[in-house]
Amino acid sequence: MTQIIRDLTTWQTFRNKIPQASSLGFVPTMGNLHAGHASLLRQSVQENTQTVLSIFVNPTQFNDQNDLAHYPRTEEQDVAMARDLKVDAVLIPSVDLMYPQGYRYQVQENNISQYLEGEMRPGHFSGMLTVVLKLLQLVRATHAYFGEKDYQQLLLVQGLVQDFFIDTKIMACPIVRMPEGLPLSSRNSRLSAEDLKQASVFSKILQQHLPIPEIKQQLTEQGFTVEYVEEKFNRRLGAVKFKNVRLIDNV
Ligand code: AMP
Repeated sequence: MTQIIRDLTTWQTFRNKIPQASSLGFVPTMGNLHAGHASLLRQSVQENTQTVLSIFVNPTQFNDQNDLAHYPRTEEQDVAMARDLKVDAVLIPSVDLMYPQGYRYQVQENNISQYLEGEMRPGHFSGMLTVVLKLLQLVRATHAYFGEKDYQQLLLVQGLVQDFFIDTKIMACPIVRMPEGLPLSSRNSRLSAEDLKQASVFSKILQQHLPIPEIKQQLTEQGFTVEYVEEKFNRRLGAVKFKNVRLIDNV
C-alpha cells in the first residue's frame, strides 16, 4: 500500500518504523512524473526494501518566477503512478514545512555551480542544494536516485553528501529519452506534439561529432536560442530555448 504523507509527525512515525537493517530508497522530484521519473522509482523499488518518493516544487530553485507559476502540477496522476510502481510512501510537504524559517539557511557551493546551468540560472543551485540537504536529512535514506539528465545537479549532490557527511549513497540513473531523442522533461508538456518533434532536433545536433562552433551554428539555424554548448566532465552539455521553453541535454 502506498501511504501519502503531508506532515512531519506522520513522516517520522513512518520512518521510525523502518528497521535499521532494511534499506530505504529515496526519489526526490518536483512531480509531473513521466517515464524518466518512473525509471528512477523502478530502480529504487528493485534495490531497496522500501521506497519513498517526494513531490515538492521547490520555490527557492526557480530563478524565473514565471517558470515557477507555470510549473505543471499533477498530484493525482503522480500518486497513481507511485501506486502502480509499488512505492511505499509519497511525501508531499508544504513550503512552510520545508522552510519553517523562510529561506534563512542556504547551501552555497563555490566551484562547479558557478558555470553552465549555474551561470544561466542565478541562485538555482543554491536553492536545489538547500532543499536536497533538507530532504536527505528528513528522509535518512540508504540510497537516493538522481537522473543524469541534470548532470551538474548530480555532481553537486554527490559533492554535498560527501562534504556534509550524509550517510546516503547517491545513485546515478541514465537519461530516459523520447523515441525522437529528446530527454523527457516536465517542461516538455508546454510544447505541442509538433513542436516537440522540432525540439528533438536539439539532441540530434548535440550528439554529432562536430566542433562546438558548428554545433552552435546548426542549432541557431534550426531556430534554437543557444545558452551554452560546452565540453566538461567528459561530456558535451547543452542548453537552448525553443518557443520560450528551456531544454537541456548532455551526451
Ligand atoms: P525533477 O522532477 O525534474 O526535479 O526531476 C527529479 C529527478 O528525476 C531528477 O533527479 C532528474 O534528474 C530526474 N529526471 C528527470 N527527467 C529525467 C529523464 N528524462 N531521465 C532520467 N532522469 C530524469
